[in-house]
Amino acid sequence: MTLIDRLLNLLYPPRCVSCGATGATLCERCIAAAPFITTRTCLLCHRPQAEGARCYACHELPSALEAAAALCDYAPPIEIAIKRLKYRRGRAVAPALADLVVDRRLPSWLHPGATTLLLPVPLHPARERERGFNQAALLAAALAPHLDLSCDPHPIYLRRARRTRPQVGLSSEQRRQNVSFAFACDPSPAIRNAHIVLVDDVYTTGATMQDCARALREAGAAHVSGFTIARARYAGGRSAK
Ligand SMILES: [Zn+2]
Ligand SMILES: [Zn+2]
Repeated sequence: MTLIDRLLNLLYPPRCVSCGATGATLCERCIAAAPFITTRTCLLCHRPQAEGARCYACHELPSALEAAAALCDYAPPIEIAIKRLKYRRGRAVAPALADLVVDRRLPSWLHPGATTLLLPVPLHPARERERGFNQAALLAAALAPHLDLSCDPHPIYLRRARRTRPQVGLSSEQRRQNVSFAFACDPSPAIRNAHIVLVDDVYTTGATMQDCARALREAGAAHVSGFTIARARYAGGRSAK
């Protein structure tokens, strides 16, 4: 923290975006109450499963994404912080959420490798202009030093080529169709034969990440995995963000 940041903190103490307590962007009580995922689940969905395996249902479905890990369940107080991240205070909240990975047990495929690159799931340019930022890019940039991984927070070769409607309220099949071929990727030396770890705020059924992974694989990435701060439980199972 720079001297100017410290002075600003003294003059205008930050408030917890989740509970409003004064002192930090995400206070110690909210961090202690974060619903960290501690059970072993399927590599792609929420079903309990032995470590490093896909459940029977996910095994049957084609997947461009090799694995998806999340830190917390999408529940308060982290759910509230993620809503603030998207709708109000992205630049302050993203580093606070990224700090949650410190000292957590992470999957082995997230460990540093020369060809591992963190990329944010892109927003449609019109949506990014409205919001003023891509929350996934802020998260990826804030996570990279903690994970000791390279990051390209603004990959010009990867884009959301068409605007999709919000996934909330759609069935799993509607979600898949809504984002089908939504992403496009140019063949770039940055991704050729690389292991890409896509970063986003919330993973629901993985439909968004699946299509982003498809575009990356078609453009030459060797492996694509996903990492999100939270994972929302979806009653329909995988077959739905
Ligand atoms: Zn709090
Ligand atoms: Zn599964």
